[in-house]
Amino acid sequence: MTKPKIVILGAGYGGIITSKRLEKLLKDGEADITLINKHDYHYITTQLHKIGVGTAADRQFAISIPDLVDSNKTRFIKGAVSTVDIQNQLVHLDGGDTIEYDYLVTALGFEVETFGIPGIKENALAIRSFRSSKAIYHHITKQLNLYKEDQDPSRLTFVVAGGGFTGIEMLGELAEGLPNLCRQHNIPFEKVKIIAVEAAQSVIPFFPKQSIKYATETLEKFNVELMTSKKILECTPEKLLLESDLEIPARTIIWSCGVKANSIVEKFGLPLEKGKIPVDSYLRVKNITNVFSVGDCSLFMKDEKSYLPPTAQVALQQAPVCAQNIVSTLRGNELKVFEYHHKGSVASIGNFAAVGLVGRFRLSGLFGAFMKQVIEARYLFNLGGPALILKQHFRIDRDPV
Ligand code: FAD
Repeated sequence: MTKPKIVILGAGYGGIITSKRLEKLLKDGEADITLINKHDYHYITTQLHKIGVGTAADRQFAISIPDLVDSNKTRFIKGAVSTVDIQNQLVHLDGGDTIEYDYLVTALGFEVETFGIPGIKENALAIRSFRSSKAIYHHITKQLNLYKEDQDPSRLTFVVAGGGFTGIEMLGELAEGLPNLCRQHNIPFEKVKIIAVEAAQSVIPFFPKQSIKYATETLEKFNVELMTSKKILECTPEKLLLESDLEIPARTIIWSCGVKANSIVEKFGLPLEKGKIPVDSYLRVKNITNVFSVGDCSLFMKDEKSYLPPTAQVALQQAPVCAQNIVSTLRGNELKVFEYHHKGSVASIGNFAAVGLVGRFRLSGLFGAFMKQVIEARYLFNLGGPALILKQHFRIDRDPV
């Protein structure tokens, strides 16, 4: 009898943890697992801002997928999914390869939402993937080099559009990392401007007042100019245009104003809601019992009106339940209902400050920064045990990109 084929699309948080949990749950020979990802490394998305400013080595946040999976249990394919044929249970890859499945997990993550604002897609930089973050770093260093030739101050103006969690993490990183980059390029850091543009009245507007105050004061201490209550109208290669005829001459605009599901899911012929794949309480695509979906590309309703946000925390909690429900389906057992437990959120502002909420407790300062490190280390520990933590932080070898 042929073994059932389980195919997982995407090796981000949701995909890699689903495959690792399946490796544990499945008995020898019970099913084949195939994991497909665009690149042969898994990256720590929650730390991409560090890659963007060059404050961390690439190897710290990009981990070889073949090193993470058990090659006796999981077949890893480096390939880009082009589409899925749900009716014939086939995954098509760029280049023409086709993979059959009996059970499918879509975990293809997010892409940047530009809200149709002119010029953002073409001229702003996105913190979306390891590569796009690396592109930010190369762009910044290019501007520093060009400044030495033309002394154009717009090359030393770095704008982060969006003052949410990712935005303040990027601002903190720029404030901490740019002095060093300027030193390396013989440019006086005093000439650098770091600007935050936010449409709401403050940064992290969804947080308690005290957290907003702390984040605002910390960014101001870093000399970040906060332009709040300002809507962005257009982005060109040389400037950002805002409401009320305001303009910011700048050649580095880092866009951090929101995400949406990876638009590739639109090609799968699945029913979509808000551009995402709606799933039932077992994480199965509605009315399709052999297709599951986790993470940012899926839509899980918390109740009748609201749905879970696109966060690593959600993807990481969904993945083990998804794996368990695939195994239960194979064995004809009862499926588990997915229940989300929010454990809190912490955003770093550079290496020594952070702001967050864990339960009813507000975190800030050095303790918050420490907690952020603990959260990251815990993820690496779950992924590959203590050996992975040591390897990521002390290994010296080639960078993945
Ligand atoms: P992803 O982790 O995005 O994984 C998707 C995978 O699919 C990737 O490996 C990608 O390469 C692959 N892929 C995409 N398209 C294809 C294709 N066509 N073919 C093959 N493979 C493909 N969340 C938190 O909970 N806490 C935080 O502190 C936090 N901080 C963040 C900071 C930043 C800078 C950013 C950008 C996000 C942050 N998030 C945070 C959100 C979090 O990173 C996402 O919610 C999470 O990555 C979603 O996991 P996922 O598995 O759905 O998708």
